[in-house]
Amino acid sequence: PAVTVPAVAGARLTVPLVTGERVPYANLDHAASAPCLDAVQDAVNELLPWYASVHRGAGFASKVSTAAYEQARDVVRRFVGGRRTDTVVFTRNTTDSLNLLARSLPSGTSVVLFDTEHHAALLPWRGPRVTRIRTPRAAGDAVLALDAALADCPVGPRLVVLTGASNVTGELWPVADLAAVARRHGARVVLDAAQLAPHRPVDIRALDVDYVALSGHKLYAPFGAGALVGRRDWLQAAPPYLAGGGATASVTEHRDHLGVSWASAPERHEAGSPNVVGVHAMAVACATLSRHGWDAITAHEQALFARLLDGLERLPQVRPLRLFEGGDRVGVLSFVVDGIDAGLLAAVLSAEHGIGVRDGLFCAHVATRRLLAGTGTGQQRAVRVSLGLGTTAEHIDRLLGALRSILTDGPRVDYHVVDGRWEP
Ligand code: PMP
Repeated sequence: PAVTVPAVAGARLTVPLVTGERVPYANLDHAASAPCLDAVQDAVNELLPWYASVHRGAGFASKVSTAAYEQARDVVRRFVGGRRTDTVVFTRNTTDSLNLLARSLPSGTSVVLFDTEHHAALLPWRGPRVTRIRTPRAAGDAVLALDAALADCPVGPRLVVLTGASNVTGELWPVADLAAVARRHGARVVLDAAQLAPHRPVDIRALDVDYVALSGHKLYAPFGAGALVGRRDWLQAAPPYLAGGGATASVTEHRDHLGVSWASAPERHEAGSPNVVGVHAMAVACATLSRHGWDAITAHEQALFARLLDGLERLPQVRPLRLFEGGDRVGVLSFVVDGIDAGLLAAVLSAEHGIGVRDGLFCAHVATRRLLAGTGTGQQRAVRVSLGLGTTAEHIDRLLGALRSILTDGPRVDYHVVDGRWEP
């Protein structure tokens, strides 16, 4: 039977080619940001006339906005299988969520992570108690490496930072196995689910992790809203992420100072007027994906991904990048083509075929550079193709046809570099 998935507004766009012709846009860059769902667009349109300041007004519009904002906490918590006691802090995105957690660690916390993480998960942790484990070639060895690293940690609080799915290779990390090791060592776990949540169900309890960070714009909602979901105690004890209105319970004037008592988490970390439209959009996206069901969503993606892999296998010049040998992955794949710069290839795919991909190092420089070096091609950048709900078999076939034609006949027009980018 045909698999149906929620409709995506951006799937109906057309784009100009270098010939002047317009073609339907084949967006194969969902890993960067996913175009919004029809249901999200409708929900945003409905809320736009109503949005008002959350928690601060007595007017009806303010009550509508406050209700939408608070209901969104519950929707997002349930979307990731959160415990009833988990708090949901709304942030700007995954980067913001992970930085918030980094600022909320009890003093002396040891942080352990793998060195191939996205910069959002690699960089927020500072100080002497940060251990970066070299990512091994076998996912199973990651469990042993984490065990050894945690055994070397000093006494005190510990946090393990894990990623659900790699934004470079789409590979799934063995999160439940790694979390079990962390638990044995009394460590907490934060899961960077930015790339996992759009493709597979995330379940805090089944995975036995403590925190999940995610971004609305990768979940088929617009930019500007993300969340950190998880245990309340560290967030409650930490100083507010930003100082300002909304994060305070009361401010009083004294002779030589202000007396501030901060609100409890989550408001403690949400100073400033909150992004009610963004948060509502993210919640509607979560609810729509859950309601539709993951079986159909993953079946749609896996069928198209298999079609892509099958086609790429027939092109020996195309060298896919992989962290691990074997193992499952979501519909995200990076590759290099022997003899063609990734930036040029991406430019030709866009200008001559209406296909949007990303090229570069994907905010995961350590991982991507290491994988590029492993190809022995001398290429300095990769091309990334990432599938989503708007992807069709025609998009995949168009990409494969375009690669075949570029490899055989080269680009149809001349390209030159302008401000570091290839342009026709
Ligand atoms: N982690 C992973 C695995 C990602 O793919 C991304 C986005 N590329 C991030 C974190 C950061 O997400 P954001 O830019 O929305 O903060």
